[in-house]
Amino acid sequence: MIKFAPILIALAYGIAMYRFSAWRTAKELDAKSTELADPMLRHLCDQMAAALELPRIKVHIYEIDPINGLAAPDGRIFITRGFYKRFKNGDVSADELASVIAHELGHVALGHTRRRMIDFSGQNAMRTALAMILGRFLPGIGPWLAGALMNLFMAKLSRNDEFEADAYAAALLTKSGIGIEGQISLFEKLDALTQSNAGAAPAWFLSHPKTHERIAALRKMEDRWKALPSSK
Ligand SMILES: [Zn+2]
Repeated sequence: MIKFAPILIALAYGIAMYRFSAWRTAKELDAKSTELADPMLRHLCDQMAAALELPRIKVHIYEIDPINGLAAPDGRIFITRGFYKRFKNGDVSADELASVIAHELGHVALGHTRRRMIDFSGQNAMRTALAMILGRFLPGIGPWLAGALMNLFMAKLSRNDEFEADAYAAALLTKSGIGIEGQISLFEKLDALTQSNAGAAPAWFLSHPKTHERIAALRKMEDRWKALPSSK
């Protein structure tokens, strides 16, 4: 039975680390954010809220420069001051920014933000278990191989999350009458926009799925919807 101890310790350590980082993130966000009050964006949020039959959708501005959108572990939605500035100076349209909010709402609604704790701590335990098993057969490279396998697995998970959040956003933007053109055009200008991010890929953009793959997935979905008989 003693063999399971390292795995359980890794699991407990993972949970503790995740809790700590979620707590620290929430503190940081509390200290550095204000509620989004822009009338044009508020209007689009209200349209999305109506489509979801929610009283309102609250969005916060996170006071940092890199262009980003994020859903906090507690389910709050943020766009960065840098992103908002790009909207104010006309680089990004209101519909485009709304698509980022819709995407983050997707992560929350689909349970990705909550599941990340399980991913994170489970990953830590799996890595330890794999390293122990592989280490027996492949001394030396076992732990390294375990790490590489887990990274691949996690990349696949977060890639799926991105496509799912995109699909959720597309459905929501369509239902609320905003449409998905902004979602697509934002992807098209992303590379240019994020160059000033100095290599840090925005969370909602998560370099894993290539921009053109995300656009292709959206176009395919749009074609399928258009092919459906009108619901009227
Ligand atoms: Zn995302």
